[in-house]
Amino acid sequence: MTLDEKVRKTLAELSVADAKGAETLFAEVRAAMEAERQDLVSRGAPSEAERDKLAKALRDRWLARKNGLLSLLDENWLKKAPKELKPVIGRQFNELRRGGGALEIEALLSAVPVSTSHRPSTPVEGRLTATEPSDKFAGAGTVKDLTLPGYRRPLGSIHPITRVQREIEDIFLNLGFAIETGPEVESVYYNFDALNIPESHPARDDWDTLYVDAQTVLRTHTSPVQIRAMEKHGAPLYIIIPGKCYRHDNPDSTHSPMFHQIEGLAIDTDITFADLKGTLDFFAKKFFGEKVRTSFHPSFFPFTEPSGEVAISCVFCDGQGCRICKESGWIEVMGCGMVHPEVLRHGGLDPDRYSGWAFGLGVERYAMMKYDINDIQLFYQSDVRFLEQF
Ligand SMILES: [Zn+2]
Repeated sequence: MTLDEKVRKTLAELSVADAKGAETLFAEVRAAMEAERQDLVSRGAPSEAERDKLAKALRDRWLARKNGLLSLLDENWLKKAPKELKPVIGRQFNELRRGGGALEIEALLSAVPVSTSHRPSTPVEGRLTATEPSDKFAGAGTVKDLTLPGYRRPLGSIHPITRVQREIEDIFLNLGFAIETGPEVESVYYNFDALNIPESHPARDDWDTLYVDAQTVLRTHTSPVQIRAMEKHGAPLYIIIPGKCYRHDNPDSTHSPMFHQIEGLAIDTDITFADLKGTLDFFAKKFFGEKVRTSFHPSFFPFTEPSGEVAISCVFCDGQGCRICKESGWIEVMGCGMVHPEVLRHGGLDPDRYSGWAFGLGVERYAMMKYDINDIQLFYQSDVRFLEQF
């Protein structure tokens, strides 16, 4: 008769009529329980998922409230025991139940080793992480095999925004620029006033700007760092300023309330628009390819004078005209200009002695062009299927 059949019968049906018989019977049950546990521990499991499954099955077989072996045993042996045998059966039952603790899920999970031999893994990784599986084996008292390959930890990849930002940074670092950063929660003074953006300018409207309070905003551009850097370092100054910016925009395929800018600033004696053109042309060729041509058009920004927009010859059609450049052959890629004398003054520099240029670009736009991505929201959704491609 198997154990499973025995627990479905009463002691009387099993012909157990005295304490000695009961103790023998319970010893048999304890031995069976320990044997099944040992069996699972020594066999191990091929994967964590399989181990969890096996552990749960063993636990439920013995400890499940409904139809678990201990419940059946309680029902048929203890409750139906003749009065004179109840104390000894009760004692034996409690002892068994204590032993059952080793069958609880947590106890089993830490005792049952997961074999890693089938996992794809390089030998180097195996050596580096060899102590890991051996720690797990230690608890089970089985042989430590240090030659088993280790766990493969999947590494993420660099986010496309970070990747493009670093690429742009590297081009300017090679030109002798330094990286400067500043706060994302910024005062109205640094974000607007010091940059010569008048009280009446629509950008200051709370339709466009996210205000923390009347004097504090989430910076709408990286330009406030221009002022902070001038105050901190004085001139000459050659910096690029990467960072997050915030605007009161509804998210769609080309807008996001949070986005990344990189700003460049060069201040020295005798800096001219020719320096600006030369530097940005060099940058465009480095980033988009040597074949790219640049074109400068007049524009307006409060913090530069004169101001311009920079367009590059379309990288998709080589300037022939296509859907992406709207048949013009050109794509606008940044704004730029000579630093406004007022801005220099706010930074503590003498505009009669120093001049400078600045540019600002959107990192998302560069990443979208570089990787042919048509929806800016993809950058922020943390969808692994998207991010895995980089
Ligand atoms: Zn084109």
